Parts: sequence; structure tokens; C-alpha cells
Amino acid sequence: MQDVVEKVYEQVVARNRGEVEFHQAVHEVLESLDPVIAKHPHYAEGALLERIVEPERQIMFRVPWVDDAGQVHVNRGFRIEFNSALGPYKGGLRFHPSVNAGIIKFLGFEQIFKNALTAQGIGGGKGGSDFDPHGRSDAEVMRFCQSFMTELARHIGPSTDVPAGDIGVGGREIGYMFGQYKRLRNSYDAGVLTGKGLAWGGSLVRTEATGYGAVLFAQSMLSTKGESLEGKKVIVSGAGNVAIYAIEKAQQLGATPITFSDSSGYVVDEAGVDLELLKQVKEVERGRVADYVERRPGARLVTGGSVWDVPGDVALPCATQNELDGDAAATLLRGGCGVVSEGANMPSTPEAVEAFQKAGILFGPGKAANAGGVATSALEMEQNAGRTRWDFATAEAKLTGIMADIHDSCVAAAEEYGRPGDYVLGANAAGFTRVADVMIAHGIV
Ligand code: NDP
Repeated sequence: MQDVVEKVYEQVVARNRGEVEFHQAVHEVLESLDPVIAKHPHYAEGALLERIVEPERQIMFRVPWVDDAGQVHVNRGFRIEFNSALGPYKGGLRFHPSVNAGIIKFLGFEQIFKNALTAQGIGGGKGGSDFDPHGRSDAEVMRFCQSFMTELARHIGPSTDVPAGDIGVGGREIGYMFGQYKRLRNSYDAGVLTGKGLAWGGSLVRTEATGYGAVLFAQSMLSTKGESLEGKKVIVSGAGNVAIYAIEKAQQLGATPITFSDSSGYVVDEAGVDLELLKQVKEVERGRVADYVERRPGARLVTGGSVWDVPGDVALPCATQNELDGDAAATLLRGGCGVVSEGANMPSTPEAVEAFQKAGILFGPGKAANAGGVATSALEMEQNAGRTRWDFATAEAKLTGIMADIHDSCVAAAEEYGRPGDYVLGANAAGFTRVADVMIAHGIV
């Protein structure tokens, strides 16, 4: 890293002690900016880099709630409003026991550049709580969401900050939070949250968008080599929103996904995933991946090891950060994997990314490959503002166009800065320059 960039990174580590995921995300972006700063030194003036790594606002709050047995619990809530140069803060809410300030900050930081890549006028933010919805009744989840929103409501709004879902936050949780927001404000501000139900302001394709987008990105990368997903064997991790719809789109494009996973293990179904059964188990019954295996002859559950031990042509990590390390990358490469498209945020460790890049395979980083979700959230905001609703084909065509544009922006930026085919550099450079140009236009704020 150049001195000027290295200094910014050292300051981030010193100021945000112990927040290792945040350090990792900042390092990855700053490292990519070396050729950008070398070519355009004005991006390092006016403390622009120092400003972009510092959130505009960090909110941390107590979330007390009562379980079904009458016991009181206290969780911690977060909203990091990172950068509003391009529009209202936009980014999901994560409910998972591992959530802490560093994880929310890493996600919020990534979100700035991801949202810039969509070219839709949305700033970057992220939030969540260390609340674990697993095993909680609907009534408990509702009481938690109401308590969480009671504080969050004072910080958000359709032109200020527009949260959505992430791990542990789906349509049910968004519904409870929207209900509480509406009650507190006495105002039907549909545009304050995205990922809403279709009957109350949601957009068709929002549920599918992140998974579909990650697969469309893989298809675009393959097309640069004159190839396609047709006939390819696909290894998927996760069994949540992103994984399920990545499997769906991969199947539609003629590929065969054969795995999925959750924190209890992974499933291998060599005949190809039975998507209807997977949706029934995960979306309807809120069950575990083992429930799929019980009803699917030929499928097996593996509780040790890693889903990346299974050989395939394409890998779609769709679970969580740092789920694919250097060893897993080496195993995937030995198994013949030629494409990785990240559905999750920062699922590959730096060692894994290095291994993929050294091997010269197609590697699509999350901030580009999984931007379809937030892009479709912005389409939901657009429909809410216009009090209109598009049909599925219209919304999907827009998503497909946005993903193609993101892919092409990454390719063009990688070429401009002398590393053709490097989607990491391409995504970071294209996202950064869009935000930085507007920050410069807005002055020192
Ligand atoms: P879900 O909560 O719907 O699903 C998450 C899946 O990943 C579950 O199967 C979960 O298993 C598994 N998982 C989560 N944490 C771990 C862990 N520590 N170890 C093993 N498995 C784990 O979340 P999403 O599908 O929405 O999100 C998945 C990823 O995609 C996240 O990185 C998220 O930030 C990213 N993303 C999501 C977007 C969206 O629109 N939803 C948009 C862009 C990115 P279990 O149930 O056992 O915990």
C-alpha cells in the first residue's frame, strides 16, 4: 500500500480496536485504491480517505423485551449511518448472536461502495442486534422487533435512512417493525423500510433479488470467456434467503446446484437440489437442513468438514462472512472450480481471495455480486414514492439490467487501472470514485 493509504489504515485499526472484520473490509478496499490514487492523487486530498472510513453517525441502544415465560431480556441494537453522499443511508438489519459494532461497521462500509455501484442514489448504512430469533415464538420475535423499532424509529425515515433485512431478518420481522413504526409516527411511510410484504408496499422480485443477482453476475463473468452456467455443477452454502434464490436462478439457467448448508452442517444432493422441498423446510416450516434429508432419498447430511470439500464448477458462498478460508479455496480449486460469485458479504477470507486470483479464476466479490438485493430495495423505494407497483417481469428486467451494468462497470474500472479481469479492484475503484466525486462536490462535511 502507498504511504498515504497505509496511514489511513493504521488509524482505522488504532481507532476501532478489536473490530477485526471492519479492519479486514477497510484493508481490502484501501489496497485496491493504490492505482486509483496513483492516477488521480486528488482523491487523497482534503482528508477524503480519512472521512470515508469514519461513519457519519453510530447509534447503539438497549433493547429490552419479555419472553413468553415472562422473563426480561436485554439485547443491544445498532445502526451505523456510514455515508450519505449519494442518498439516504440504505442497508439491512442483521439479527444474529454474533452481531457487534465491528461486524455492523464492516457491513456498513461495504454497503457504501455496493450501493454506489448500483447507480441508484442510495448512501450506505447497516444495523442489527445480537438477538437470536432461532427457536423464538412469533410473539417473542414481535415483542423484540417492537422494542427495537421504538428506539430505531427516531433515527430513520424515507429520506433519511431506509433499513431492510439481512441474516435473521425476513418478511416477518420487517412486518413487525413496520407496524411499530407506523404506530409511533401515525404515518404510513411505506418508503421507510424495504423488503415489505406485497400487500403493503413490497416489490415483486425483492425476495429473489440477491440470490438471482449473484447468479446473473456469475453468468456475466462466464460470458467474458464465451461460456455459460448451462450444465455446470454448483456448490452453494447457506440455506436462507440468498442461498434459496441463488439455487432457483442457477436451475433456471441450466446449472445443477447440489449443496446447501446451515450452522448444523451441509447437505449434498447429487441429483440436484429439490427446490420446492427446500423452500417448504426453510421458508414455511422454519426447519433445519436435516429435515430436508429425512424426506429426500439420496441426499446426505454432513455434520463435520466444510461444504467447500464438495467438488463443483461454480461456488456460491451465501451464508456469512469468512466462511471460505484459504484451505477451502485450495480444495475448491483442486476440485476444478472456475467461478466464485459471492452472495454473502465478505464470505471469502483474504487468503481465499488471493488463492482465487492467483489461480486466475473468475471471482466476483460480494459488493458487486450481491448488489441485486439493495438494487431491488431501491426499486421498491421508487415504486413506493410513485405509489405504483410493477409486475414481476418488469422488476426482474430492471434487476437484470442493473446487474449487467454493475458487471460492466467493474470490467471497465479493472481495465482502466491496468488489471483486466480483476473484479475486486474493479468493484472497489468504480464504487469509490462515484462516492468520492460527490463527497468532493459537497465540500468538507
Ligand atoms: P438468512 O438469515 O436468510 O440465511 C442465512 C443462512 O446462512 C442460514 O442458512 C444460516 O444458518 C447460515 N449462517 C448464518 N450465519 C452462519 C454461521 N455463522 N455459520 C454457518 N451458517 C451460518 O440470511 P440471508 O440469506 O439474507 O443472508 C446471507 C448472506 O447474504 C449474509 O452475508 C448477508 O449479509 C448477505 N446479503 C443478504 C442480502 C439480502 O437481501 N438478504 C443482500 C446482500 C447480502 P442458520 O440458520 O443455522 O444460522
